[in-house]
Amino acid sequence: MESISQDPFSDVLDSIYEIIPFKSVENYQTMAHELATVTLSHRNLCDLELILNGGFAPLDTFLNKTEYENVLENMHLGDGSIWPMPVTLDVDRRFADSLKSGQEIALRDVQGLLIAIMLVNDVWKPNKKHEALAVYNTLDENHPGVATLLNQVKDYYISGELIPMSSPVHYDYDHLRFTPAQLQETFEQRRWKKIVAFHTHNPMHKVHRELTLQAVKLTGAKLLLHPVSEFSQANDHNHYLRIRCYEHILKTYPKKSTLLGLLPLATRMAGPREALWHAIIRKNYGCTHFIVGRDHASPIQGRSEQKYYRAYDAQTLALTYQNEVGIEIVPMQELIFSHRKMRYYPANKFPKNGKPTSISGTELRNRIINKKAIPEWFTYPDIISELRKTIPHKLQQGFTVLLTGLPNSGKSTIANGLMLKLIEQTGRQVTLLDDNEIRARLSRGLSSSERDKEVCANRVAYVAKEVTRHGGIVVCETPATTLKTRNDMRDMISQSGGFIEVYVSTPMSTCENRNPSGLIGDARATQIKDLVLISNYYEAPEMPEIEIDTSSLEPKEVIENIMKEIRTLGYIE
Ligand code: ADP
Ligand code: ADP
Repeated sequence: MESISQDPFSDVLDSIYEIIPFKSVENYQTMAHELATVTLSHRNLCDLELILNGGFAPLDTFLNKTEYENVLENMHLGDGSIWPMPVTLDVDRRFADSLKSGQEIALRDVQGLLIAIMLVNDVWKPNKKHEALAVYNTLDENHPGVATLLNQVKDYYISGELIPMSSPVHYDYDHLRFTPAQLQETFEQRRWKKIVAFHTHNPMHKVHRELTLQAVKLTGAKLLLHPVSEFSQANDHNHYLRIRCYEHILKTYPKKSTLLGLLPLATRMAGPREALWHAIIRKNYGCTHFIVGRDHASPIQGRSEQKYYRAYDAQTLALTYQNEVGIEIVPMQELIFSHRKMRYYPANKFPKNGKPTSISGTELRNRIINKKAIPEWFTYPDIISELRKTIPHKLQQGFTVLLTGLPNSGKSTIANGLMLKLIEQTGRQVTLLDDNEIRARLSRGLSSSERDKEVCANRVAYVAKEVTRHGGIVVCETPATTLKTRNDMRDMISQSGGFIEVYVSTPMSTCENRNPSGLIGDARATQIKDLVLISNYYEAPEMPEIEIDTSSLEPKEVIENIMKEIRTLGYIE
């Protein structure tokens, strides 16, 4: 890569020295420890990086209330420029209440590095549901953008002038991270006049190569492969895997006319608005053309194959505003592989009897997990081997067995027996998180309230996720009585390996008759009262992987049955 200045922020800092002579950046550095601090979420940090490096021009700070409302209502800023995405800084109520107008606050990353000072001049409580409908056109929390907005983004937004202090630190893939100024300089040095950008947040395969080369042919432009570098909720491939795949596929492109760069964008997956936003960002990076294909930034609804936005809605919106943005949209038809002709065709030119063939994301994952062949027309051997490394065969994958049921249903008995049987049969590491273990280590300081049970379930899920991610086996109980909390555990753990929910469906009458600690008198009466209470609000799983009633089976038989089911699910031999 040709000469690129070392500190991308030096220009910004120089101009800041000029406009704030009364308080220099050094002054701020020394007094920053006295300022109230906002610890930036990952999304905030990505947004701030792109605000400060010009990727989000014309934004020079997070939106204030008026601009936020303008963006939601008509996708424009007060000065008339187009901007479809609310880019906001969220804080909690206590922090918001403590702020005074003009107050200087420190914006830091999670390690405490000072990224910028904000001179706060606006604080407000947004209507997040209104925002979700305006931006995502849905309130469905299965939509990753809606889930983040409603469940993670804090309740107040703040804005104010920003004083940059240091650039966010990236320890990985430095050689692929360019600011807009750096890319523009590179294009100039290479004398590239027309540049078509391709956005993705998935590993690239042959269809993407075909798509981008067709766009190059149509426009006569050079190509910028500009994938998102950040981990996003909407895909299950970690960014190291994706980036290794990009580096492999880059080798198949003409070297002199293709460049790979990473974009530190926190995607929202907002379909049409997102496509338009992506186009504006690429214009800021010096590109003249931007590819929008079918289903751009359109997540899948829950576990179905349905999408939230119609196939070409993103394209239509981006095309409508392309002149205003100042970038040419390259609308691409869906590309489909013909098994008869052994090549890709745009959907509208697909030959009759061409035998359309495709492999969905789920199908690809299944083929990798089950060690099935992946055809050559679909992708490259290097990419398959990367995918196989990161998504191991089911027998090598870590997995978690989560036991749920009423008190006395038999969960602890199963957990202990299953742990021993799994060690005997697999010779692998098994971590047991039964009731005793949880009480001793994970539920300290928590009460038996539902809120605290949820907190405890979250701690259990975190430990299970980490062990599973490193290829271990976890057998655990959960204090969670609600479907939602257990589904959250499922979502968290299954990101990193297998997840098996075992519903111990022993009926209430049997649980009531069991008295493991031999309690008598009042103690026994309280035990039964608690059991009745819990059975009234306990929500049984809707689709557990395994269901077992221990009332008429010996503990050994229970364990044998569960082992058989785990074997059928393919996690053990
Ligand atoms: P995202 O979900 O962020 O859009 P993807 O990696 O799914 O990321 O897609 C990147 C771009 O490639 C999008 O513009 C998408 O429309 C386009 N694309 C992906 N697959 C195809 C295909 N088979 N035909 C046409 N365009 C495609
Ligand atoms: P939980 O962990 O769900 O509260 P436990 O595993 O502690 O339940 O079991 C409660 C009581 O039921 C214990 O006395 C245990 O020995 C007994 N028990 C568990 N499983 C069985 C079974 N399959 N058959 C008979 N008794 C059982």
